[in-house]
Amino acid sequence: MKIKNRKIGRLPEVIEELILTVLVSVFAFVFASGIGYYEWVPFGGVYIGLIVFTICMLWFGYRRVLESRKIYSEQKKAEKALRESEEKYRLLADNSRDIICLHSADSRYVYLSPSCSMVLGYDPEELIGTDPWELVHPDDLKPMQEIAGKKTLEGKSALMAYRIRKKSGDYIWVESVSQSIIGDEGEIIGFVTSSRDITERIKVIDELRSSERLLCNVIDASPNCIFIKDKEGRYLLANKAIADLYGTVPENMIGKTDSYFAERGAMRTEECGLFREQDLQVIKSRKPLYISEEKITTKEGAVRWFQTTKIPISHMDDPDCVLGVAVDITERKGIKDELKEAYLELKEIQDQLIQTEKLAALGRFASSIAHEIKNPLGTILGGIEFLERKIKVDDKDIDIAIEKIKDTILKADYTMMSLLKFARPSELKRERISPNVLVENAASLLRYEISLNNIRIEHDFGRGIFIDVDRNLIEQVIFNILINAVEAMPDGGTIVVKTSRRVEPKLSPDKPFCAIEITDTGEGIPEENLSRLFEPFFTTKKEMKGTGLGLPTSKTITQNHGGDIFIESEYGKGTTVKIILPLAEGGR
Ligand code: ADP
Ligand code: MG
Repeated sequence: MKIKNRKIGRLPEVIEELILTVLVSVFAFVFASGIGYYEWVPFGGVYIGLIVFTICMLWFGYRRVLESRKIYSEQKKAEKALRESEEKYRLLADNSRDIICLHSADSRYVYLSPSCSMVLGYDPEELIGTDPWELVHPDDLKPMQEIAGKKTLEGKSALMAYRIRKKSGDYIWVESVSQSIIGDEGEIIGFVTSSRDITERIKVIDELRSSERLLCNVIDASPNCIFIKDKEGRYLLANKAIADLYGTVPENMIGKTDSYFAERGAMRTEECGLFREQDLQVIKSRKPLYISEEKITTKEGAVRWFQTTKIPISHMDDPDCVLGVAVDITERKGIKDELKEAYLELKEIQDQLIQTEKLAALGRFASSIAHEIKNPLGTILGGIEFLERKIKVDDKDIDIAIEKIKDTILKADYTMMSLLKFARPSELKRERISPNVLVENAASLLRYEISLNNIRIEHDFGRGIFIDVDRNLIEQVIFNILINAVEAMPDGGTIVVKTSRRVEPKLSPDKPFCAIEITDTGEGIPEENLSRLFEPFFTTKKEMKGTGLGLPTSKTITQNHGGDIFIESEYGKGTTVKIILPLAEGGR
């Protein structure tokens, strides 16, 4: 509380008031004399002057008494307030858990609040007159003195945290606020400080720091990429794994974005754009995002695969952050892909085995019934030819019927022959021959069908290629494939036959083979039929046209030669059949 210092009966004011009184009385005297009562003058004027003077005196006296009483009561009130506040502050100081000290200008203790004994173990009297710097930990002394000196010069209060020695010799952490006390002449006459024991707080901070360090170590030790980004895409946290990936250290990532690293070639721009889209999606939807597979291409161009989870989180008062954990699945993915490949291979082998087993069963069956069918067929055919010669009727209908019976018998015989060829492969009579010769021979057998169906046949023959094969059987294979191509183009088209010397990875990774590729522009094969083409009796041809034995027989023959047949087709566009055969010794 601020009190104005006023003393009762200040001399200049009294003189002012007296002069004013005399002036008013003289004026009253002159006024009274001037209004015409000459007979009263000087007595009448004097009386009036005296009366006015007395009234003024009484008035001023009354006012002074009132004022004195007011000032007196104000002073009493101020003194009381001062006393009360002093008591209050002393009460505060005496009861405070903080140590409140008064220091002389040379810093020595002048007063210490009683809490000093509780905090430091010293009674206040023990410390009065001593130098507080002696109690400060040697490591904290210099920085503290610097801060204190600077703040004193600036006339500001200084806030310092330091260690101070207790009477027991142990150090505790205190936080002090110090303010200089300035005398009337502006000089420093002392200091007042308030010190608080913050040992517990420092301990908590230390524990927090150490658990933070521990957490950082754990995060850094993780092989997974762990990071936090804000809504601008800036890294707020990045562990060693992600920093390694970006070719830097974790500290270097803080505050930077993926685009920053993309601009410096540490990652691909398109990948960085994808990450940003995901982050924004998480922030916007406030829902976690699971990415089962995503790739990151390193600076060196190596591709690594990750399984990433992104979660919306609040970090350091920012509600729009993304926490990401990316697990490197490159190895796992490699194994998975290999497993998938191995499974498919196994499945193919299994299918082949089933097929082989089926074929073997069919072969056994075909052999057992071959004679039973072929002999009666021969007898029927002989009988029909005999009847044909004997019946000399000029009846067209009979002729047609006989021709039809003969055709059917021949077809049945051909089917039986194919079945036997397919089921019980005969011994191969190998000879060294050019595949081009075999193609020309087979094609010449189809000359009639080719021209009838308006089909053009083109050759793209490789030179100097030789194979060591049973020419009749391979000619038969080429014929089977060519007739299929012709049958697939009822409205005409083109057949291209290409022979070449090439590596066929499906058979051997580096050994060259002879390839006879027959491509047509026919109807093509629907995808669902592709896996069934080599099944015996699988045919899509109507009535008696197809036997479904052409392709299985051809495959068996080719495989018996150490080769194979592969078919590629696009429905509605055409088909390519590749006959692969081993090259003859010195095949080129
Ligand atoms: P078939 O010719 O007696 O039907 P194949 O074993 O020769 O028996 O052929 C089986 C099936 O494969 C055919 O019915 C046909 O559906 C299909 N096919 C074979 N080659 C071709 C081709 N070049 N174009 C279209 N389909 C074909
Ligand atoms: Mg056929």
